[in-house]
Amino acid sequence: LVMPLGHAISAWTQLQTGLGALTRIQEILALEPEEDGRPERTGAGPRPGAPLLALEDVSFAYPDGTPVLRGVSFEVAAGSRVALVGPSGAGKSTVLALIEGFYPVGDGAVRWAGTDVRELPRAALRARLGYVEQEAPVLAGTVRDNLLLTRPDATDPELWAVLADVGLTEVVRRSPRGLDVLVGDEGVLLSGGERQRLAIARSLLARPELLLLDEPTASLDARNEGLLRETLAAASADRALLVVAHRLSTVLDSDQIVVLDQGRVVARGTHAELVDSSPLYRELATAQLLV
Ligand code: ATP
Repeated sequence: LVMPLGHAISAWTQLQTGLGALTRIQEILALEPEEDGRPERTGAGPRPGAPLLALEDVSFAYPDGTPVLRGVSFEVAAGSRVALVGPSGAGKSTVLALIEGFYPVGDGAVRWAGTDVRELPRAALRARLGYVEQEAPVLAGTVRDNLLLTRPDATDPELWAVLADVGLTEVVRRSPRGLDVLVGDEGVLLSGGERQRLAIARSLLARPELLLLDEPTASLDARNEGLLRETLAAASADRALLVVAHRLSTVLDSDQIVVLDQGRVVARGTHAELVDSSPLYRELATAQLLV
């Protein structure tokens, strides 16, 4: 399985509409990791002093030759919140794709607790990472089906707790079927923001050490934007968070904001520091009426 979860889900839901799609997807998720040539390592746990995640001088070009990242370095400490911001096309989503192992790194290295990800079995990496894509995939099925995808053994109280973390309790409680309400035309219709938060809930249930989130580019209304902010705060309570942000308002309180421009890191710091030190960041913030 080399596709991100979302791609796998959308491919399979298209193929399997109404024909036991859930069972099929669970089969895919249960597949043993493919033989990817990576040595099985034991003792690849955290090394003292190494950050949870580090990008070291990473350069990357897509298979068609388009160079996208040039010498990108930054770290995500365990439990911290880091945001990636920058103009459209700067390479933000590509950074997430490399961390997730969707493409091999060109030059440089992505290290997980000090270990080069190329030396980590893909399954070990996947178990530690959650990845919520921009177009959050929602399965044709019930709310429960959607959540249990990552942790089939989760209990109802755990499901309700994670729904509360992402601000979806009310929406689901509105139906007498509760967790068994269908998502979609015949059950509960979810807005873009609600779909994204359902996908976040699904990732959180798997208890990743690091959650990667590609914020949706589509505009959210003020209520959904506020709920996304609260969700990120809840999600970061006991894990690290790396968020690609198109709305700076969602990431103002990050421990570190990394500014990318044309594939390079041009500034790093907190919101307050960057407003002072980075003309590009100030421009982005001004355009969004944040300074
Ligand atoms: P946005 O804010 O618009 O989502 P981004 O900062 O996330 O942009 P990326 O999606 O990482 O930027 O894209 C960076 C560059 O790489 C762009 O020029 C884009 O056209 C190019 N690119 C992205 N995906 C591919 C691909 N699969 N093949 C070739 N080029 C790609």
